[in-house]
Amino acid sequence: MPLFVVQKHAARSTHYDFRLETEGVLKSWALPKGPSLDPSQKRLAVFTEDHAMEYARFEGVIAEGQYGAGPVIVWDLGEYRDISKGQDFPKSLETGKLEIWLEGSKLKGGFALFRMGAGDSKNWLLKKMKDEYASPGIEITAASPKSVISGKSIEEIQTGKD
Ligand code: MN
Repeated sequence: MPLFVVQKHAARSTHYDFRLETEGVLKSWALPKGPSLDPSQKRLAVFTEDHAMEYARFEGVIAEGQYGAGPVIVWDLGEYRDISKGQDFPKSLETGKLEIWLEGSKLKGGFALFRMGAGDSKNWLLKKMKDEYASPGIEITAASPKSVISGKSIEEIQTGKD
């Protein structure tokens, strides 16, 4: 199964980069507020540039002066399944309507990712589907802030302390 990763990234503003392995690259969206397990929450997800697969497990500090300077942690990581009905994944990306099943440590179950407006719009929304993994009222980013690979917070990565 392909990988998904969510990296918490404290650049000029803190956001969460949501990435899905597709045809050898990581399709990427930046979420200013991060994902939610509450199906009533629709989270803005701004489509950004593809990243290389090697980046999926990157955790560390992007140096000052470089694009995206600031600390990054792997906030969640796992496999995902395409559960869109009747379309292959590239077609779903093109039409702007994805339905995926995540097998992460924090994010589990069905999620819908859909584009707002026309094909050239970068603005998508991410929403938890109603299933056994939905947790109304729980903000998983606040409840579970640390890295799934090192156990460190983004502040600890920034300062280099354990
Ligand atoms: Mn970022």
